[in-house]
Amino acid sequence: MIRRLVVLVAVTWPAASGAVAAALPGDQTIQHEEVRQVMGTLAAVRVWADNVPVGRAAVDTAFAVLVEVDSLMSTWNGNSPLSRLNRAPVDQWVPVGPDVCRVLAAAVELSRLTGGAFDPMVLPLVRLWRFQGGKATLPAAADLAAARALVDVGALAVEATRARLRRAGMAVDLGGIAKGYALDRAAAAMRSVGARGGVLDLGGNLLVFGVGAGREVAVVDPRHPGQLVLTVPLPAGAVATSGQYERFVTIEGRDYGHILDPRTGWPVPAGCSATVIASEALWADALATAVLVLGPEAGLALLERLPDVEGVVVVGGDILPTSGLMTTVPDQGP
Ligand code: AMP
Ligand code: MG
Repeated sequence: MIRRLVVLVAVTWPAASGAVAAALPGDQTIQHEEVRQVMGTLAAVRVWADNVPVGRAAVDTAFAVLVEVDSLMSTWNGNSPLSRLNRAPVDQWVPVGPDVCRVLAAAVELSRLTGGAFDPMVLPLVRLWRFQGGKATLPAAADLAAARALVDVGALAVEATRARLRRAGMAVDLGGIAKGYALDRAAAAMRSVGARGGVLDLGGNLLVFGVGAGREVAVVDPRHPGQLVLTVPLPAGAVATSGQYERFVTIEGRDYGHILDPRTGWPVPAGCSATVIASEALWADALATAVLVLGPEAGLALLERLPDVEGVVVVGGDILPTSGLMTTVPDQGP
């Protein structure tokens, strides 16, 4: 049996949205949890607070932040500042605001750090593979080459509140990093209204703080997403899992996952997942995407080089953790 296993990375939460409020035994702190649909996925926010009004305010403020970040950075919403940047004439500065610029700047930094495995300019490839709708077919080599040529983070310029793209057809996708940023901001907002702790879970990204910390987190089996494959301790901070089982298109009977290798233009092979633990959810989110692209060897080597970052790659039947990570294989008995 796994004790204190309270949070499941990359496992869907109860489908019904609802609220649960309960007093913790031996503790006057109120625990309150809600699940809502946001950022194209289910988000669960749990709070510990001194009383019910503070708990409810913290949960509401967290969801308000998630909705706001989505409205700023979604490429599905044609009115978002990011979509306006993607539509703007070449070389024109677009006022996108400080939040979008912060995430753009972080994405550029992550792209450099990961040797381009993480690249926020992947949207032309994402569109080519029809991850944003349309009938998916295997792209022609010429179309792949043309889209790949547009994936160049050097052509994205970012200032404090505005950004610009240097070539026609270029477009930014923050889908690999925005959820993490949203969680960092939501947790800060919860603290600012008096929350004593929280657990926030958003589409494979998890952040815990305060009295919510000190948990174990389970990682699902990328080949059998209904099953758990290992647990890792999470004292406080963020953990993110990327895997090709989360979202895919089917072409000629084969599934192709939504994470693309910018070097080849092709989706990363399925059956693998990358989990990253870091103090900030933005970093965990982007690094998990990057490690999936880099593969176990280069991906784990990158994580080993970064201070205060741990992770684990699950590939085939193998569990490959960084040297500083304690993993436990859960007892799946009856
Ligand atoms: P995640 O679930 O955090 O790994 O993010 C996956 C999403 O990031 C995809 O649905 C795309 O929108 C985007 N994406 C795909 N490939 C990459 C990549 N190589 N670098 C950055 N973002 C990517
Ligand atoms: Mg990510």
